[in-house]
Amino acid sequence: MPEVDAARLVAEVPQFVNGAWSVASATQRGEVFNPSTGKVIASVPLAGGSAADAAVDAARTALPAWAETPAVERARLMFAFRQRVENHFDELARLVTREHGKTHAEARAEVQRGLEMVEFACSVPALLAGDTFPQLANGVDGETNRHPVGVCVGITPYNFPHMVPLWMFPIALVCGNTFVLKPSEKVPLSSVRLVELLEESGLPTGVLNLVHGGKDMVDALLTHAGVDAVSFVGSTVVAKHVYTTATAHGKRVQAAGGAKNHLVVMPDAELDQAVKALAASAFGCAGQRCMAGSVALAVGSVADALVERLASHGRSIDAAPTDGNDAAEMGPLINAGHRDRVAGYLDTATREGATVALDGRDLEAAKKNGSFLLGPSVVDRVTPDMSLWTDEIFGPVLSVVRVETLDDAIAVGDRCPYGNGASIFTKSGYAAREFKRRFNAGMIGVNVGVPAPMAWLPFTGWNQSFFGDLHIQGTEGVHFYTRQKMTLTRWFASADESHHDPVWKGQKPQ
Ligand code: NAD
Repeated sequence: MPEVDAARLVAEVPQFVNGAWSVASATQRGEVFNPSTGKVIASVPLAGGSAADAAVDAARTALPAWAETPAVERARLMFAFRQRVENHFDELARLVTREHGKTHAEARAEVQRGLEMVEFACSVPALLAGDTFPQLANGVDGETNRHPVGVCVGITPYNFPHMVPLWMFPIALVCGNTFVLKPSEKVPLSSVRLVELLEESGLPTGVLNLVHGGKDMVDALLTHAGVDAVSFVGSTVVAKHVYTTATAHGKRVQAAGGAKNHLVVMPDAELDQAVKALAASAFGCAGQRCMAGSVALAVGSVADALVERLASHGRSIDAAPTDGNDAAEMGPLINAGHRDRVAGYLDTATREGATVALDGRDLEAAKKNGSFLLGPSVVDRVTPDMSLWTDEIFGPVLSVVRVETLDDAIAVGDRCPYGNGASIFTKSGYAAREFKRRFNAGMIGVNVGVPAPMAWLPFTGWNQSFFGDLHIQGTEGVHFYTRQKMTLTRWFASADESHHDPVWKGQKPQ
C-alpha cells in the first residue's frame, strides 16, 4: 500500500480523473484552514469547465463496462474499501479534525457513520433483485428489474467531510453507476484520502473521479450533457439552485438543504437527561450539523429551570482547539468569517429583545489563540419573528422559545420553512404520539436529541430542507441510483414443441 504523500496533502490538493492524480490548472484557488490554529494547510484549485469535462468524459467512458459488471463483483470493491477505511480509522478521524475542527470523538463518530454507509453498500445487491409476476395475463409473465442511472455527480458540504461523500458514491457504484465527486472546497482533504483508499481497493479506471471547485465547477456539472443524476447536500439557497438548474437540464436530483431543528421540552420531561441531550444536540460539532437542535421550545413551567441548567451545562463544556487535543469537548467553527457571523447573532439577539443567558464570546479572548473558537451560547425569550428563529445560524447558539402548551409548540413548528428534524422530551406517551404525528418535520426524535438516521434508513428532510423525490441513504438511496425496467414476456409454442405442453394440447396437468 503506498504511503500517504504528506507533502501533497499540505501543498496542492490533487484531483483524480481517469485513474490519474494531477493538480488542476485554475486561475482561482481556495485555502483550506486548520480551524484549531487558524493556519492554512492546503491550497485547492477552484477549477471549472475543462476539469468538469475531463471527469465526466472519463466516467462516461467507464460506464458500459462497469454497468455490465455483476453487482456482486461491484460490491466486492466496497468490501475491500470497507476494510481499508477500518484499517485507517484513526488516521481518517484525525484528518477530519485537522481540516474541519470537530473533536476527536466527534470525528471518530463521523468515520463510524461513514463506515456504516459502506457496509450498507456491500449489501445493496440484495436490493437490486426485481419482482416477477408470472401469468399476469393469459400466457404473459411480468417482471421488473433495476438498471444504473448512468453518470452521477455528488456535491458535498463542509460539515461532514468524510461521511457525506460516503452517503453517495458507495451506493451509486454498487448500483452500477460511475461517479464524479466534488467535495466542499473548505474540506477537500478527507475526500482525497477516501479516493486514495478506493483506488488501492481496486477501483477500475474512470469509475470514480474527484474534482475541486466552487460555483463554476458545480454549474459546469449541473448543466453537462454527460451527467444523468446529481446528489447534493448543503445550504438551502444552493440546494434550490442545484435542483432547479439540474432538473431543467434533464437530470434526476436529490438535494438536501439547511435546517432549523426544534427540541420540545415538556414539563414532565426527565430534566437532567433532557438538558444533556439538548446541549449535545446544540453544541456538538460546534452546532455545525444539519440535525443540530437550534431552538428549544420550553413548554409551560419548565422554562426557568431549563434555561438555568442549559446555561450552566454550556459553561462547563471544555471548548478548545481540537487538533492534537483529544480531551477537547467542543471545537472551533470552520473559519473566521463564519465564527464572526455566528457571534454577530448574539448582538442581534439583544437588539431584537431576547436575553443572552450564556455568551460564547466570553471564551474567545481566553482560549482563541488563532483558532476559530466560539463557546456555547444560550439565548432566552426568543420569539418566532426574530432572526435567531428565522435564520439557520449553524453554530453553537441555542435559542429558547417559551410556549404555554404542546399545541403552541406544534404551531411554532408549522411556521418553520425548514423541516429536517425535531424532538420531544417527555414521559407522556400521548404527548409523544401527538408530537410524532403532527410536528412539521421529516425526522422525529422521542427523548433523542439528534434524530439522524443511520445508513439503513432514509434521511427524510421536508419543506426547504430537501428538494427532490428520493432521499439519501437506505432503500430510497438505492432507488435514486437505479432506474426500473418492466418487461412483459409471452412465448408461443411452435408446432414441434406443442407436444411438451399439456395445456396447449387441451389436457389438464396431473
Ligand atoms: P454550501 O451550500 O455553501 O456548499 C455546499 C456545496 O455547494 C459545496 O460543495 C460548495 O462548493 C457548493 N456551492 C457553494 N455555493 C455555491 C453556489 N453559489 N453555486 C453552486 N454551488 C455552490 O454549504 P456548506 O456551508 O458547505 O454546508 C453547510 C450547509 O449544509 C448547512 O446549511 C447545513 O444545514 C447543510 N447540510 C444539510 C444536510 C442535510 O442532510 N440536509 C447535511 C449536511 C449539511
